[in-house]
Amino acid sequence: MSTLTEADEVLAELRQAGKLLLTTHENPDGDALGSLLAMHWVLEQLGKDSVMFMSPDEFPLPYEYRDMVFEGLVGAPPEDLDERTIVFLDCGNIDRMPVDFLKGEGLHILNVDHHHDNTRFGTVNLVDPEASCTAEIVWRLARELEAELTPGIADAMYIGLVTDTGRFSYENTSPDSHRMAAELIEAGVDPHLVSRRLYEDLPFRRLQLLQRALASVERHDEGIITLASLTRGDFEATDALETDSEGIVDHMRAVEGTAVAVLVRELLAEDRRGLRKVSLRATDGRVDVSRIAGALGGGGHPQAAGFTTELSLDELVNRLRTEVAAQL
Ligand code: 5GP
Ligand code: MN
Repeated sequence: MSTLTEADEVLAELRQAGKLLLTTHENPDGDALGSLLAMHWVLEQLGKDSVMFMSPDEFPLPYEYRDMVFEGLVGAPPEDLDERTIVFLDCGNIDRMPVDFLKGEGLHILNVDHHHDNTRFGTVNLVDPEASCTAEIVWRLARELEAELTPGIADAMYIGLVTDTGRFSYENTSPDSHRMAAELIEAGVDPHLVSRRLYEDLPFRRLQLLQRALASVERHDEGIITLASLTRGDFEATDALETDSEGIVDHMRAVEGTAVAVLVRELLAEDRRGLRKVSLRATDGRVDVSRIAGALGGGGHPQAAGFTTELSLDELVNRLRTEVAAQL
């Protein structure tokens, strides 16, 4: 595999394309949104006709991204879809695309991502698992395209970088992530302000939801698994949205002895009743949670992965105990 060639191919495609449609995975996180917006503005700078697509079901976006403005966003297929180069950002698997019109045959897809388990569903695939975030790949592309890092672009990239590296704390934090941060700060990012927006100044319901999650904590197998669970009732009682559970799993991973941190939450949409979303975080180098998530129909990174399941909470806990034990 030559990453250089993949990057060259994507660069050639981006240079040559006149019309593009950019998109990202369902339940978009900071990296998804940041890469999307940064890529869009870079392409606009180059005089391209770029639109962004996200399903209307994704709105409202998580509260921490309230200041990100998506001008040029469409919620339905544009009429000239077949003339557009489609760019997927941060999406490891086509199943994470909630709409069918972007899954069809005959689309010209550039797949730009950093998930090691990316299924390479694109026409051209630029997949770099060494990149801390997809925004880091976009940052490199922007440099090659000689785009100016405007304060807006820098901010969007920085949001992807900070959220996907866990504020520069996960294993994916590299010299390049810090070089990128330095460059973005020079381009106008205010790290403290971004941090305030992302991690503080949040609605009180978040703390109330966290309170319920903490009250639910269970430890299994001498604490190797630390798990919190949220029911529909917890969301109703606190008036919380699904996206308000973002970050809760990080409290589970912060406990001594934990190898795998888990947050399980019941999905709220009527048509997803009975389904649970599971977030996994590995804090023990021997455990690759993307393998566990993959075995259960999801995926992700070795240290952070997720899936949706029909299993009951008890069945799920048993399955996780078996899967984790098999890796230790
Ligand atoms: P989170 O637990 O924050 O929802 O997701 C952590 C990571 O796991 C994400 O960055 C994403 O890579 C992956 N992930 C989460 N849910 C799914 C899923 O349903 N399918 C796949 N393929 N990956 C997921
Ligand atoms: Mn990412």
